Amino acid sequence: MIDSHCHLEQSDYSKDLDKIILKCKKELKAIITSCAHPNDFEKTLEIVNKNKGFVFCTVGIHPEYIKEITDKQIDVFLDLIRKNKDGIVGIGEIGLDYHWIKESDQIERQKQMFIKLLRLAKELDKPVVIHSREALPETLDILEQEEMKDVLLHMWGGHTLMDKVNELGYNVSMNSIIVSSKSYGKVVKRTPLEKLMLETDSPWLAVKEDGNSYKLDPDSRNDSLTIKITAQKIAELKDIDFQKIWKQCALNSNKFFKLHLNI
Ligand SMILES: [Zn+2]
Repeated sequence: MIDSHCHLEQSDYSKDLDKIILKCKKELKAIITSCAHPNDFEKTLEIVNKNKGFVFCTVGIHPEYIKEITDKQIDVFLDLIRKNKDGIVGIGEIGLDYHWIKESDQIERQKQMFIKLLRLAKELDKPVVIHSREALPETLDILEQEEMKDVLLHMWGGHTLMDKVNELGYNVSMNSIIVSSKSYGKVVKRTPLEKLMLETDSPWLAVKEDGNSYKLDPDSRNDSLTIKITAQKIAELKDIDFQKIWKQCALNSNKFFKLHLNI
């Protein structure tokens, strides 16, 4: 009962965030919000401080923002993360995105920023949360080259790379995309339960009922409670009891992010 990845600082929640958090508190043990841009850092810390022991945060720079950020700004932000290291539970989301970034010089900068953030995670002894889009083998190569150990592959879509992911001992967090995607379903089937976590990536990826199942609903706002629907789908795909999925995924997040919660 932990949402391991979402974005509470998004303006979609600006009017009723307190209400949303209160609603989630009734069913969940924790929410981990991911600050993916330096401009969102202050807001993220504010939300965490207001909801101590329930909302935790990871902090990083999303690769799709590479064009709008200078090398100097990256270094300044790294220092800010260092100063606030006790208030954060991981570095992320960070990684590579070749879908939004096509220019070779910017791809190179993306790689350099990714490596810098991975090294920061090692320096601060924090786990990393990885975003990878259309750059899956390259992402794994860099993680391996940097000898990263505590890795969570957020919304990982690379089912053909699962041998390598499992060999490296990496974790995977899955969200409601599995209600509509067979390839993400294959990832779930190939991820050991001890390496699996639940997430939403909310406010994105809301779902709506569709007969006796669900489908993605791009027009609505998502929230952390959707991890329940994802857990149900995982239970179906892995043919394991829902309660077992629900509890084990939370235990995995608790351990990975060192939350020290009673699950
Ligand atoms: Zn995200």
